[in-house]
Amino acid sequence: MSIADKLGTVTRRIQKATSTAGRVTGSVQLLAVSKTRGPEDIRAAAASGQIAFGENYLQEALQKIQALQDLPDLEWHFIGPIQSNKTRDIAENFQWVHSVDREKIARRLSEQRPTDEPPMNICIQVNIDNEPSKSGVPLADLDTLAATIADLPGLRLRGLMAIPDPNQPEAVLQDSFQRLATHLHGLQTNLHGQQPGATESIPLDTLSMGMSSDLELAVQAGATMVRVGTAVFGLRER
Ligand SMILES: *Cc1c(COP(=O)(O)O)cnc(C)c1O
Repeated sequence: MSIADKLGTVTRRIQKATSTAGRVTGSVQLLAVSKTRGPEDIRAAAASGQIAFGENYLQEALQKIQALQDLPDLEWHFIGPIQSNKTRDIAENFQWVHSVDREKIARRLSEQRPTDEPPMNICIQVNIDNEPSKSGVPLADLDTLAATIADLPGLRLRGLMAIPDPNQPEAVLQDSFQRLATHLHGLQTNLHGQQPGATESIPLDTLSMGMSSDLELAVQAGATMVRVGTAVFGLRER
């Protein structure tokens, strides 16, 4: 199957899951995860109308962003772990970051965001199952981190991201997705409570969850952005 065909299949899966969940058509966006794929694969997806691409590895991503500069409408999302010495390149080259899980990284991204660019769109990565040694802010620290990010001028807090272990039983996975949705709603109430009048300026509208194997469960639980790699581009070699 070509990338165009696979994209079509994924798009239909998303549409079906959206209508099964009784949600509005078009309320779930596809982020095509292009890590390990070359610029030509991204070009092929872009030719089929895909705009948003997710990358995990900075050096690899920067090469692709450079190689695809003739497609200025592409939207780049950083979704991998972030070391603090990488924040400047991320702040200068991406429109979204889904993997912010500590204050130091958030502050650096805000300071290093070019002033002639709009604020970066940020999702906080949450360690939703409190798994030891996994990325993501612990649930206990989520509210504090969210309040910090909401106040940083170079950032625009958009929502939450999680990567629950896809090998868990379906019911457990479903529960993890639903709890992430509940935390987003809690944050909407909390942040707006702390900053009366700021309600309209903080668009906490994004739940980034669901991948190739579990996007239907995530959409059922309220995902607004699914991050899909394998089902769009085929199996990765590494
Ligand atoms: C690789 C990756 C994905 C996509 O996973 P697939 O199973 O290939 O769809 C989604 N999110 C993150 C954070 C990833 O690293």
